[in-house]
Amino acid sequence: MSKMDNLRAMREAKYAESQKRAGSAPARPKAPVAPPAPAKTAGDPLAEAAASTDEELCGHRNMSGRTCTREKGHSAKSHRYS
Ligand SMILES: [Zn+2]
Repeated sequence: MSKMDNLRAMREAKYAESQKRAGSAPARPKAPVAPPAPAKTAGDPLAEAAASTDEELCGHRNMSGRTCTREKGHSAKSHRYS
């Protein structure tokens, strides 16, 4: 076996080994980041805030009949009707 053949054989062996390792590697332990948000609200903090307060709203109505969109029992003194 020539020197070049020997080198190539070593390289192929290393490659095969790394492929094997990659294939059998355990899944990452807990991902540090949260799973991606639904596309509808992704990257939109306002939409995300609205989504998170959908269930429990203050519900206070102002004079024009609009409903407060802040969370139930919000600490802010003013209601928000946007
Ligand atoms: Zn309110």
